[in-house]
Amino acid sequence: MLQNIRVVLVNTSHPGNIGGAARAMKNMGLSRLVLVEPRSFPHHEADARASGAGDILAAAQVVATLEDALVGCNLVLGTSARDRRIPWPLLDPRECGTKVIEEAGQGAEIALVFGREDSGLTNEELQRCHFHVHIPSDPQFSSLNLGAAVQVLSYEVRMAWLAAEGKPSKVEKFEATSPRSETLATMDELERLYEHLEQTLVDIEFLDPDKPRHLMARLRRLYGRSSVSRAEMNILRGILTETQKAARGELIKRKE
Ligand code: SAH
Repeated sequence: MLQNIRVVLVNTSHPGNIGGAARAMKNMGLSRLVLVEPRSFPHHEADARASGAGDILAAAQVVATLEDALVGCNLVLGTSARDRRIPWPLLDPRECGTKVIEEAGQGAEIALVFGREDSGLTNEELQRCHFHVHIPSDPQFSSLNLGAAVQVLSYEVRMAWLAAEGKPSKVEKFEATSPRSETLATMDELERLYEHLEQTLVDIEFLDPDKPRHLMARLRRLYGRSSVSRAEMNILRGILTETQKAARGELIKRKE
């Protein structure tokens, strides 16, 4: 699906930005880069900024006009650093990601078009686009670096794609891996932990058996929330044992 999406950079002046855009694309799984009359390309600065994404630069298509870049496209989205140059259907980056993936899923060819560093896209170029996309930056300083703008939109495309594919957008949550792959402590093991904990708290004179308040109930609630694994419980038991030893040492010293 992501193969249907091309990133079009119009008249880029700084080759470093082309490299930055290539890297941003590759990070997000996009691969098709089209350059409309770049000022200098290929260029060592583009290679340097692309880092490991040199393959995207090597495969980039260089064309003479925006029209050439859009051949075969069913959906064209033009980006603009200014909120509304001309009244046009406007999407935010998230809506853009969703739209792109919906259409790509139907087999559409899609272009995301980015403008010149100094002057963006012309009105004529923007009017060739079905939708405009504005990244809601601070109006006082609205223009992102070109590579950064490519990053934001590529990221939103990827998030929408992951959602559409039913793939998780996060590395599996810690809670979902750790205690599930480790065996959880059983109720009776936890009971022994609580007994050990209570005894230790008495030993170190944190808990007064005559005035226990609700300390043990609160601690049970705390550990109960944490899905303690057997391995974790053994660590806690180890700490308690050493605490008791240390406390006995203290008492001996105090008696001396
Ligand atoms: N002075 C220019 C800034 C262009 S920035 C102008 O006002 O248009 C270069 C390109 O980065 C823009 O053409 C656009 O493709 C992209 N870009 C920068 N900031 C953006 C933003 N806030 N929203 C969408 N695209 C942005």
